[in-house]
Amino acid sequence: MEALAQVVTYEGPGGLVIHIEQPALAHLYRNAQHKCWSREAGGQLFASIKHNRWVVTKATGPRTTDFRSRFGFRPDRKAERAEILALFQEGLHYVGDWHTHPQNVPSPSHTDIRNITETVQASEHSLSGFLLAIVGRLPAPDGLWLSFHDVRGGYAKCPLRCNLSSEN
Ligand SMILES: [Zn+2]
Repeated sequence: MEALAQVVTYEGPGGLVIHIEQPALAHLYRNAQHKCWSREAGGQLFASIKHNRWVVTKATGPRTTDFRSRFGFRPDRKAERAEILALFQEGLHYVGDWHTHPQNVPSPSHTDIRNITETVQASEHSLSGFLLAIVGRLPAPDGLWLSFHDVRGGYAKCPLRCNLSSEN
């Protein structure tokens, strides 16, 4: 069993630094599709934001009201909106979505890109864009896709800056 990373740090556009901390990583990897019959799972990502630094401390979902299959995931959007408001009261900002793929090293589908772009464009927020995280079968960072999606519909995979595992 490989050591689970403590925090994985990525670079976003315009000097943005994104830390994904252990509680959020652990939540994502509890839902990874290790069995060939496991279904896709997903949810939302929440961060504390200080200037150009997003610290993703919380990942939520999946919920029993989501639609889930081996190759698809449609969240309960109404419940998600309520969650965004509740966590904002605790100082956490909604910064994007995550879901699992039955791939070792995942990459987004056209539908994934379209969905997160629609979310960025439809949401009322003050951020320059949202994150899409896709959890594969391999541990982070190799098995974790992270991209930044802007309001204009552009996106870029976030380069990894560092990966602090518990062995270090
Ligand atoms: Zn997907």
